[in-house]
Amino acid sequence: MPVADFRSPRLFVDADLAAGASLPLDRNQSNYLGNVLRISTGGTILVFNGRDGEWQAVISGRKRPDRLDVVAHIRSQDRLPDLHYVFAPLKHARLDYMVQKAVEMGASSLQPVLTRFTQVTRVNGERMRANAVEAAEQCGILSIADVAEPAPLERWLTGRPARRLLIFCDEAADTADPVVALQAGAATLDGIDVVVGPEGGFAEDERNLLLRQSRTLRLSLGPRILRADTAAVAALALVQAVLGDWTAAGRRD
Ligand code: SAH
Repeated sequence: MPVADFRSPRLFVDADLAAGASLPLDRNQSNYLGNVLRISTGGTILVFNGRDGEWQAVISGRKRPDRLDVVAHIRSQDRLPDLHYVFAPLKHARLDYMVQKAVEMGASSLQPVLTRFTQVTRVNGERMRANAVEAAEQCGILSIADVAEPAPLERWLTGRPARRLLIFCDEAADTADPVVALQAGAATLDGIDVVVGPEGGFAEDERNLLLRQSRTLRLSLGPRILRADTAAVAALALVQAVLGDWTAAGRRD
């Protein structure tokens, strides 16, 4: 991994970034920098917007931080692997956790799907996006994962391109070496969707529907049933290690 500065605070901004740019800070950003991180005028931070790479910026403002002056380019923009994390939304804290972890693991898109046993009906997209940004800020990630609108499982399956590999995490699959199982998906790789179900699991007809898709790879995550948020991290680690950007071949930057 290129040497990166993991000590400086990082802030995601919407504005374009270039040397000499001067950006106003909104109230939340000002509060975060001044009162949470306790950085005052003259302090430096790193900023990124998901498009222009990472930049060093100096804080200015008389009473409290109210502007950022962009000074130097630090890292070039990268691209996330074409890896979508598809999941039945969980309740509050577990959903926050799952979104943060999926972002840390390098998912480029988060797709909530509603299934028979999904316990939540309303999903707070704003909150998921805030969690995605926070995880990116904390973990040196330069590209912000997209948060898609929730869709019923069947509708999502109908709309997705059939060329993508669908990795279906299924606790009912026979336990087998997951690395070997995933290697079988490496040929003609054209995007990956990793699917994890709700705490109650998939209904039988949903499982059959998933298994009938043209490029389904049924993945066992070992002999124990995992909570959905644990399954998220386990599955994404395996996929990144075998088919994703933990391998030199899988990197897109
Ligand atoms: N049906 C289960 C629980 C589902 S666990 C029950 O209630 O008994 C939630 C989700 O995590 C599952 O839908 C599956 O996608 C994933 N998962 C959990 N353990 C798994 C395992 N050992 N192998 C593959 N996927 C697993």
